[in-house]
Amino acid sequence: MARTRTFFMASELLIFVLIFSGCTRRPAETEELEVGSPAPAFKLPDMSGQEITLSQFKGKVVTYCSVCDGPVFSGQKVAVIGGGNAALEAIDDMVKIAEHVYVVSVTPYTGDQVLVERVRAAGNVTEFMEHEVLSISGGTLVDGIEIRDLKTRKKKMLAVGGIFVEIGLIPNSELVKGFTILNEQGEVVVNCRNETDVPGLFAAGDVTNVPEKQIVISACEGAKAALQAHKYLQRL
Ligand SMILES: Cc1cc2nc3c(=O)[nH]c(=O)nc-3n(C[C@H](O)[C@H](O)[C@H](O)COP(=O)(O)OP(=O)(O)OC[C@H]3O[C@@H](n4cnc5c(N)ncnc54)[C@H](O)[C@@H]3O)c2cc1C
Repeated sequence: MARTRTFFMASELLIFVLIFSGCTRRPAETEELEVGSPAPAFKLPDMSGQEITLSQFKGKVVTYCSVCDGPVFSGQKVAVIGGGNAALEAIDDMVKIAEHVYVVSVTPYTGDQVLVERVRAAGNVTEFMEHEVLSISGGTLVDGIEIRDLKTRKKKMLAVGGIFVEIGLIPNSELVKGFTILNEQGEVVVNCRNETDVPGLFAAGDVTNVPEKQIVISACEGAKAALQAHKYLQRL
């Protein structure tokens, strides 16, 4: 996917208007999982102990979006990694599509109780709470996931045809960390005009506090931000 970043510079006026964006998938609380920037590099040992990265499984059914990719797994067994609201929403999506959903989370559920009750009522979910992911196995496609109980250290292999990683996002907002425009999650706070609290500084996309990290949302927010930047420059 093209990941773009746009700078609008009115250099003759020495005014700098910036639209920036992006998020990196959050690393899990296990040491084996790392997520890099800008593209997520999901690193795990494979079953032979060699390190694998997300790119090896990209397009091979390790996914981050049940809304986008869920129907691909119709009738299959899948694993959802995570225990927060994003994971619960993915589980709720997948119980209607997949044959069975395994949940692997290093903590008990941390999301909304109503969602917890909803997925527990589904009847085709097995929870592995306080478990960590050790490795992903597969050739052309993913075929399994190895997990370990954090208390007993007992390992278990789950045969799955798909894996949903739902462990959060880290906004790539390093560039503006000196400004007081970030919320507790590190997202750039914008209003409905994509303005930040810094005059002339606009933001759009996954890096902002706008909910739903999706292409269509980011693209539309980018268009809005560009229009607002244009209006801003017209009034100088
Ligand atoms: C594996 C994966 C699959 C996805 N599948 C879907 C899908 O099927 N459908 C869907 O709608 N969404 C999907 N998404 C989400 C979608 O990719 C994002 O919502 C969308 O790309 C956000 O657009 P953006 O422009 O805000 O950020 P990005 O696309 O992340 O672009 C940000 C850009 O800013 C650059 N950048 C970051 N920091 C700096 C810096 N300091 N200096 C210069 N450049 C910088 C980055 O290199 C990148 O080019 C998926 C995401 C992932 C990770």
